[in-house]
Amino acid sequence: MTDRYAVFGHPIHHSKSPFIHSAFAQQTGQDLTYTAIDAPAETFTTAVRTFFAEGGKGANVTVPHKEAALALADDATPRAQEAGAANTLLFTADGAIYADNTDGVGLIRDLTNRWGLSLEGKRILLLGAGGAAKGILAPLIAARPRAITVANRTAARAEALTTAFAPLAVRFDVTLTTLPWAQLVHREATPPFDLVLNATSASLAGSTPPLSRALWAPDAVAYDLMYGATPTPFLMAAQQQGAARLIDGLGMLVEQAAESFWLWRGVRPETEPVFQALRTQLAASTAC
Ligand code: NDP
Repeated sequence: MTDRYAVFGHPIHHSKSPFIHSAFAQQTGQDLTYTAIDAPAETFTTAVRTFFAEGGKGANVTVPHKEAALALADDATPRAQEAGAANTLLFTADGAIYADNTDGVGLIRDLTNRWGLSLEGKRILLLGAGGAAKGILAPLIAARPRAITVANRTAARAEALTTAFAPLAVRFDVTLTTLPWAQLVHREATPPFDLVLNATSASLAGSTPPLSRALWAPDAVAYDLMYGATPTPFLMAAQQQGAARLIDGLGMLVEQAAESFWLWRGVRPETEPVFQALRTQLAASTAC
């Protein structure tokens, strides 16, 4: 029988997840369907429970429901608990809902496997302290950079994040600090960074966090978790300011999906053909 999966979010009509999971299923010969379900906050929990009650096997969850997804689960992986948010749900044979968060592993696989970057000993600037930042911080720390600095428009959220992850940072011998948002544009703020990750949603509003030339080490990489048909405002600003390499979050999207697929089906799809197909699709959408 064909197994049913879905992604829940609001809005959801632009989601690439149905394309990605259908491509994975075709590639690996798995018999499944995957649809996008629009669920506003007030109906999210009921919608997920109904989906599972009607035979759904698993789901992805995206903005703005990742925290609610963790809350409704009966059990969760340590990485979902650490993140305080889930992007993957699995309906187990005994009727329980199990939650995972694959965003962090998706980012690390994209950086290391696709783009050949090593994070060990590097200085990383993480912009943002929302759900995505929470999901990626533990795997970033575990990759053993020298230092991670968190800056967020609302300073208290950056402080809360570094406080929560301080014990993990100590365990991996990573210096974890915050930088006031206003200091991002000051030359003397800090030693330069090897990797600047934009985990804010500023690009969605067509803007970028404040940046300065002094932030970038000579071979610095700018990575925006957001992706699109054209370079994001953050990546354009980074290029103007001397970042050596620009990467968007399309690869992370495909990698986090592959990890969810593996959790559900026990099969690891090849991500590169799906990544390339999506890139081509996005490029074609600008040509229209
Ligand atoms: P949240 O809403 O949880 O957090 C938003 C973050 O962005 C907060 O830190 C917020 O700061 C900051 N922010 C919002 N608007 C601005 C602005 N105009 N200027 C500066 N900072 C701003 O969102 P998520 O963390 O879930 O998502 C963040 C981004 O990551 C999104 O673009 C999303 O698409 C992307 N993402 C990509 C994934 C992928 O697979 N490629 C996976 C997950 C997320 P404040 O605290 O001050 O409000």
